[in-house]
Amino acid sequence: MKRAIWYSAFTVALAFLLPLLLTPARFGAVPEAEPEVSGKAPAEAAEAGPAPLDASLILTVHTEDGDRDMAMDEYLLHALAGEMPADFDSEALKAQAVALRSYALYYRERHKATHPEADICTSPSCCAAWIGDEALHERWGEKYELRREKLEQAIRDTDGQYLAWQSSPVLAVFHASSAGTTEAGESLGMVLPYLSSVSSPETPETVSGLNTTVEVSPEEFQACVLGAFPDAKLDGGDPAAWLGPIALNATGRVESVEIGGQSVSGLTLRQMFTLRSTDFSLSWDAAGKSFVFRVSGYGHGMGMSQHGANLMAKGGADYTEILAHYYPDTVLSTAAEAE
Ligand SMILES: [Zn+2]
Repeated sequence: MKRAIWYSAFTVALAFLLPLLLTPARFGAVPEAEPEVSGKAPAEAAEAGPAPLDASLILTVHTEDGDRDMAMDEYLLHALAGEMPADFDSEALKAQAVALRSYALYYRERHKATHPEADICTSPSCCAAWIGDEALHERWGEKYELRREKLEQAIRDTDGQYLAWQSSPVLAVFHASSAGTTEAGESLGMVLPYLSSVSSPETPETVSGLNTTVEVSPEEFQACVLGAFPDAKLDGGDPAAWLGPIALNATGRVESVEIGGQSVSGLTLRQMFTLRSTDFSLSWDAAGKSFVFRVSGYGHGMGMSQHGANLMAKGGADYTEILAHYYPDTVLSTAAEAE
């Protein structure tokens, strides 16, 4: 019942929260793995020096301790560490760096209402994940230097580069994974040509955990749905009869499901049952006496898929090809020095 109450509150606030769904990887940041890092040795790469354009561009970053000015390269290092495992291919890391830089520049031109005085923040539920140095030491341990250098290299190699559309930085949202096709921005009210749906190479064989399952007891299902849709008819009888047709959108994700005579959107169900994406099926398992969501992918599905980028990189694509694929119609541009 607690979940149902929480969910009712969420429904009321849905219109307010919708912009948050457009954060880069809401519910979809790729978890850090622990494989070996390949990359340049710290001593060798340290000679390359800082990224000059990024070093001269100062962002106002809203942190837990208040607003703080920091250079773009410092912001990017910690955001990149927060958003993509350091063991991902270097070309995927470069693509991620460009996406993060584009996103920061986009909001530098139009601050979010959640932090009107700052360009960007360190919260993954608002802007992008950001991990401070102390936490990175804890996370990476003895591999700290090697991993930090690999990320810094990706930032240096893309120094000042961002994606532009109509000569302005783009809203380069991204997500962890999509099973075959990314989501179109217009599904979430973002009619932007560079957020159109494109193919993505992930399969259950190439991305572990791409498919997930969520089982919900009929009691919990009933409480959650009635909490948000009190007119739904979910009384007694066979729970299988509670479910009506499922409507899919053009990318195969759930547009809506008829439940107890009410149309419930895929987005609502995702929030209600903490599903990893709106790419799911829903059925009643009579033997197990539970509703079963079979979910593919992780995240809102728009823009670049991080796992897809990594697979493209492993297949030989460089970061410019990855970005051109996931953000069609954009132009890879370079920031002017010391704006
Ligand atoms: Zn923010």
